[in-house]
Amino acid sequence: MKALSKLHPEKGIWMTEVDKPEVGHNDLLIQIRKTAICGTDMHIYNWDDWSQATIPVPMVVGHEYVGTVVDMGQEVRGFAVGDRVSGEGHITCGHCRNCRAGRRHLCRNTSGVGVNREGAFAEYLVIPAFNAFKIPDNIPDELASIFDPFGNAVHTALSFDLVGEDVLITGAGPIGIMAAAVARHVGARHVVITDINEYRLDLAKKMGATRAVNVSKENLRDVMTELGMTEGFDVGLEMSGVPSALHDMLARMNHGGKIAMLGIPPKDVAIDWNQVIFKGLVIKGIYGREMFETWYKMASLIQGGLDLSPIITHQFGIDDFQKGFDAMASGSSGKVILNWD
Ligand code: NAD
Ligand code: ZN
Repeated sequence: MKALSKLHPEKGIWMTEVDKPEVGHNDLLIQIRKTAICGTDMHIYNWDDWSQATIPVPMVVGHEYVGTVVDMGQEVRGFAVGDRVSGEGHITCGHCRNCRAGRRHLCRNTSGVGVNREGAFAEYLVIPAFNAFKIPDNIPDELASIFDPFGNAVHTALSFDLVGEDVLITGAGPIGIMAAAVARHVGARHVVITDINEYRLDLAKKMGATRAVNVSKENLRDVMTELGMTEGFDVGLEMSGVPSALHDMLARMNHGGKIAMLGIPPKDVAIDWNQVIFKGLVIKGIYGREMFETWYKMASLIQGGLDLSPIITHQFGIDDFQKGFDAMASGSSGKVILNWD
């Protein structure tokens, strides 16, 4: 079958032929219809330090997808050939304390589709049936293919009560923008998002941010004054991984504020702990998506009228994959979809 692979330990990604994966007793074989390019795929494409330390070569990459079930193992229940599915990319062990307690997102033995094992940028993908999520009929393929990053946004945004609250989101990447849309949809008052990229700030405004702030030109303190905010933000969603953005956030939180941290900083970050202690801040780290409460909420939010479609800014046929990676690298994109069907 055709597959987009990391064939060489250097910058790039290559279309190649690999064997169709074998279906185990508990697995689904999924024929891929659409895939989306994640920031992680860009790290792998660029072959940065993290990728060099993490990614086996050669390997098929990719973990954002939607497809159709075409075969399944003899132990699988609850799925049928023809089902349209996406899948949780974190394969969990099932036997650690958290897995056994149903807290699969906290599994200490997680293995990542397209990171630690063969990925979804291929005509076919095999995953444990446990990881698959059936897509309701009224959700289009495009949206289903971005459920993985949408799930990061939903998991982070719904970590704390947002109703009537003032929310600060640092980082208007695809995930930050989707989080802004969710925050607005569920009833936050001010949804302020920061970035240094005008294209993405504009997109965030289109998708529900009430104020988009270019921190290279504007000061958050002034924006708060403009909005009549005399105290501080109630909830912070850190979605940039940039140390200065976290510093800004800590300084602008109200006392008793809550912060959910998704962005992955490049290395250790020092912070002013006095901001945390004397304000009584709560800080929660977020990894992946809750299995499968986050997935359930994603489908329900879309069915309840949340419009995510503007986040998909580019679509290419799979043979034009290079254009897709170039669009992602340009910074002037939301989500980029590659069509396999
Ligand atoms: P992204 O890189 O597309 O978005 C990050 C954004 O931060 C960019 O738009 C960038 O311009 C912006 N930025 C740069 N400097 C800034 C500053 N000073 N202030 C505010 N914003 C600034 O990433 P994404 O795909 O949207 O993901 C968001 C973050 O979440 C990344 O750090 C990613 O690594 C991380 N992530 C974590 C998980 C997890 O499970 N914890 C999963 C997926 C992604
Ligand atoms: Zn486990």
